[in-house]
Amino acid sequence: MAEQMLQFVKWSQKRPTKRSAAERRRDFREIYEGFRSDAAREQASRCSQCGIPYCTVHCPLGNIIPEWLRLATEGRLQEAYALSSQTNSFPEICGRICPQDRLCEGNCVIQPGFKSVTIGAVERYITETAFEEGWVQPRTPRHEIGQSIGIVGSGPAGLACAERLRAAGYEVHVYERQEKPGGLLMYGIPGFKLDKRVVERRWKLLEAQGIIFHLGQAIGHGEGAIALETLRQQHDAVFLATGVYRARQVKAPGVGLANVMEALPYLKASQSDEATTESLTARGKRVVVLGGGDTAMDCMRTAIRQGAADVVCAYRRDRDNMPGSRQEVLNAEEEGARFEWMLTPEAFLGDGHVEAVRLREMRLGAADETGRRAVEPTEQVRDLKADMVICALGFEAEPLPTLWAEPDLAVTSWGTLAVGERGYETSLPGVFAGGDIVRGASLVVWAIRDGRGAADAIMKHLSACSVSEEPSVGECA
Ligand code: FAD
Ligand code: SF4
Ligand code: SF4
Repeated sequence: MAEQMLQFVKWSQKRPTKRSAAERRRDFREIYEGFRSDAAREQASRCSQCGIPYCTVHCPLGNIIPEWLRLATEGRLQEAYALSSQTNSFPEICGRICPQDRLCEGNCVIQPGFKSVTIGAVERYITETAFEEGWVQPRTPRHEIGQSIGIVGSGPAGLACAERLRAAGYEVHVYERQEKPGGLLMYGIPGFKLDKRVVERRWKLLEAQGIIFHLGQAIGHGEGAIALETLRQQHDAVFLATGVYRARQVKAPGVGLANVMEALPYLKASQSDEATTESLTARGKRVVVLGGGDTAMDCMRTAIRQGAADVVCAYRRDRDNMPGSRQEVLNAEEEGARFEWMLTPEAFLGDGHVEAVRLREMRLGAADETGRRAVEPTEQVRDLKADMVICALGFEAEPLPTLWAEPDLAVTSWGTLAVGERGYETSLPGVFAGGDIVRGASLVVWAIRDGRGAADAIMKHLSACSVSEEPSVGECA
C-alpha cells in the first residue's frame, strides 16, 4: 500500500550491522550482516516513490527500484524478487559490491536531507530471502533452439550472457582458463566484500540450468589453448568477455626488487594456500600500497587481515579526488589503514629486497572537464619505509589481436576490443564482446549489463541469419 511508503521522516537511515573493526581485522568473512526482516521493511518504506526515480536512472541495469522497495515494504518478497531478477542476473552480488554511493543511492532524492534509501542492502535482503525460500530456481529453457554459443571468460559479463542465452534455449558453452568460474568475483574481489560461497551458489545454479563449463581451458593463447577460429567454427556465435589483466606498470628504478609486487597475484594468493608463502604474506611487514582505487583498498584490507605491522596507502591526489568508493575508504580506515595523500612513486630503495619507497610530493592543479583536479610534481621528495610494496595502479587490456594471432580483431586506441554500430559485435562477424575487455577496468554491474545486452544482440543476430535464405558472407557467422 502506497501509504506505507514515504517513511523517511519517521525512520532514519540504517545500514545492516557492520562487524566491529577489531573483529574484522582477524578474519576474511564479509563485514556486513544481512538485514533482519523488520529492518528491511522499515528501510524500504523510506522510499518516496518518485515519479522519475533517479535511483533507477543511475543504476546501470535500470532496476525498477521503487517498485521492489514497495513490494518489500508490503512483505510481498516473492514478487519483489521476481521483479528485481527481471533486470539483474545476479542481484545478490550487486547488493553486496556495487559502489552504491556512486550509483543508485548516490542519486536518491532524499539523500541530501535524510540520507538515501539503503537500496543495495534491501536488494541483497530480497535475494537472500528468495534463496532461503527456494524461489531462486535455474531458468531452464522450455524448448531447445538447436544453436550453440561459445562464451570466452566466466566473469560477470560471461555468466550474465550465458544465463540469458541458456534461458532462451541456446546450447551454451563457457570456456574459462581458471579452475573455477566467476572471474574477478572469484579470483580478485576479497571474501570480506563477497563471500566465495555466494559465487559458487550461482555457479551451481548455472550448471543446473544446463550451461556447459569448460574449466581450465584457455582460448587464443597459453598452454593447450583453443584458437578463436576453431571456436567460431564450432559455435553459431561467440562472446568474448575476457576482462583486463595487464597491470599498469610503475616506471621507477628498483621496481624489480624482491617484495615489490602487483596487486592481483597478491590478492589471488591471499585467497589460496599460497597466502602462507613468506614472500606473499604481509604478516609482520610494513606495507605500502600504491594507488587509490578499489583494488588498492582491497590490498590494504587484506594486508591488515594477514597481520601486517603497518599499512599505508600512497596516492597521488587527495581524498576528494580519489577514484575508490568512499565507503571502502572508510572501511579501510576503520580497520587501521593509513593514507598519505599527494605522493607519487619515484624509486624503490633497497639491497635485493625493498626497504623503502621514495615518493615525490604533488600539488593539485586545474580541474579537467569531469571536475577532477590534475596533479603536478613539486620539488619535495620523501621516503616511506617498507618491507612490502603492492602496486595497484589499475589494469589495461592485453593485446589480444597479437596474442591470439587475430589481426582482424579491431581494438580501440586503449587496446580494448572495438564494438561497432551493430551493438556488441566486434569486427569479426558473429563475434561479440562486452565487460571490461570493451569498457576497460570498470564495475561488476556494468559487466552484467553488457552480458545481458550482448545476449540480446546475439539472439537478434542469429534470428536475422536464420530468416535470411541466403546469408551473405560477413553478414552471418
Ligand atoms: P572478469 O571478471 O575479469 O572475468 C574475465 C574472465 O575471463 C576471467 O575469469 C578470466 O580468467 C577469463 N579469461 C581471460 N582470458 C581468457 C582466455 N584467453 N581464455 C579463457 N578464459 C579467459 N567492481 C565492483 O563493481 N565492485 C567492487 O567492489 C569491485 N572490486 C574489485 C576489486 C578488485 C581487486 C578488482 C581487480 C576489480 C574490482 N571490481 C569491482 C571490478 C570488477 O571485478 C570488474 O569490473 C568485473 O569483474 C569485470 O567483469 P568481466 O566479466 O568483464 O571480467
Ligand atoms: Fe544499486 Fe547496483 Fe542494485 Fe543497481 S544493481 S540498484 S546500482 S546496488
Ligand atoms: Fe525511492 Fe530514492 Fe529512488 Fe526516489 S530516488 S524512488 S526516494 S529510492
